[in-house]
Amino acid sequence: MRIVVVGAGAMGGLIGTRLAVTGHNVTLYDTWDEHIAAIERSGMVITEYDDSILRYRIPATTTPPTLDGVDLILVFVKSYHTTQALRPFAGHLPQETFVLSLQNGLGNLDLIRAALPGHERVILGVTAHGAALLGPGRVRHTGKGATLIGDPAQPGNRRFDLTPISRALTRAGFETAVAENIHTAIWDKLIVNVAINALTALTGLRNGELLDDPDLQPVIAQLVTEAVNVMQAAGVPVGTHDHLAYARKVMRDTAMNRSSMLQDVRNGRRTEIDAINGAVTRLGTELGVSTPLNRLLTVLVHNRERAAQREQPQSPEEGTPDG
Ligand code: NAD
Repeated sequence: MRIVVVGAGAMGGLIGTRLAVTGHNVTLYDTWDEHIAAIERSGMVITEYDDSILRYRIPATTTPPTLDGVDLILVFVKSYHTTQALRPFAGHLPQETFVLSLQNGLGNLDLIRAALPGHERVILGVTAHGAALLGPGRVRHTGKGATLIGDPAQPGNRRFDLTPISRALTRAGFETAVAENIHTAIWDKLIVNVAINALTALTGLRNGELLDDPDLQPVIAQLVTEAVNVMQAAGVPVGTHDHLAYARKVMRDTAMNRSSMLQDVRNGRRTEIDAINGAVTRLGTELGVSTPLNRLLTVLVHNRERAAQREQPQSPEEGTPDG
């Protein structure tokens, strides 16, 4: 397959490079000059999960690549950069090209559709793999788990054959299945992020430490309940999944991790709060579902972001997976 990765940071760099290693024709596209220069100079350097090092020469560019014959665009910018990152491709995208977002949070589908009006082949997914940027051209693979992809437009109705994409990801080391309803999978992961990210960003706690404070337990439970209520009101099948138990399991399984949102506020970077607790609140308002605690945490994280930007210069620091 010919693949373009839009946003070749931690996750885009990792997955794009591993797809290239397994024989695909991959181009990394990113607007970060220093990062692309380092990849062009020395290849992409990945510190694998078992501490082994993979160094791989891969085409990388700061200029939007031409899309003739491109089978797949992998969108791996932060949610809030989606529109500007895809804008250069509007009007140049062959109808056969799949655009796949494995970004966290809600709202990425709308952002992609707005940036690429009329493009049918937009698909979504979630991955439990994690990665962190170590510096220009250097990424660490920090977490492993399942990946699901699916057609968000018509869940259950297989408009497109997504098996070539799921097979390619699986062969590259990211075991992937095609989900019947990708919205359920996205919400299931979103609700874990709703429970963990903002609270860790505000308290400075590691994921597992959230379980140690008895006073935080009803807060976590309410965050999850509000999000599940919005999920139900949005008509997304909830099934029998126990979201609170699952969020607590992820806290235990990633106990030593500092969430990406905590890393972001510590480094004076913008967070994805608007795609996580903020998105739950926005959709809740539209659907008439009350989400006071998610709203409060969204406001507090925005204030924390502003304070961190005033206090600290930006500096690269190792991050950890998003739960
Ligand atoms: P990252 O910050 O490491 O990488 C994003 C990259 O996008 C950066 O290299 C940045 O320079 C680039 N970029 C910004 N604006 C751009 C533009 N206009 N055009 C092209 N490139 C641009 O982020 P990440 O941690 O890889 O996360 C990417 C997405 O994947 C997020 O939505 C995140 O929530 C999700 N995700 C991350 C992890 C993880 O463990 N890091 C796991 C699962 C999902």
